[in-house]
Amino acid sequence: MTLKDSRNKLQESINQTIDYVDSLLKAEGLPIIKEQKTNNPLWVDVREIDLRYQLPVKKVERFFSALKEGKILATKCPKCGAIYFPPQDDCPNCRISGLEWVEMPTEGELITYTVINVKPPSFSHYGDYIVGIARMSNGVNVLAWVNAKEVKVGMKVKLRVTRREPEGYLTYEFIPA
Ligand SMILES: [Zn+2]
Repeated sequence: MTLKDSRNKLQESINQTIDYVDSLLKAEGLPIIKEQKTNNPLWVDVREIDLRYQLPVKKVERFFSALKEGKILATKCPKCGAIYFPPQDDCPNCRISGLEWVEMPTEGELITYTVINVKPPSFSHYGDYIVGIARMSNGVNVLAWVNAKEVKVGMKVKLRVTRREPEGYLTYEFIPA
């Protein structure tokens, strides 16, 4: 499915929900629907917002430019040696900023994972996916999608840069080593 198709599909389901909420408002005066999977009541707000998260990334911009070069970077505190991934510019232990950039090792071992088949709305256009945590060879735990047909705890994985489709943005994932 292309990005446009998946956006249209999401928009279609939103429109159906809005139509349904409009009819509920007319009939009962309350925009409360039942969630499909759990049957829990959900208040659907009658005002619309179009939300795209904007996160300030100035302090970790280098992480993103490295992705373009196929590299995955972490930050390291020059004082206590703690490594942070995803990178952050502050060490809460030492209360200092301006940490050093280091490259993450690619080798890791999967310590846990979960298959996501009930997805939040903004992830509903993806097929089922696996999210795992691996202990990397530098001792740092990394959370990422696992791109593998078969997964088991203890398997060797490789951390690599990938493009998440259909959006096409650069991110990182595990593949079997
Ligand atoms: Zn520190």
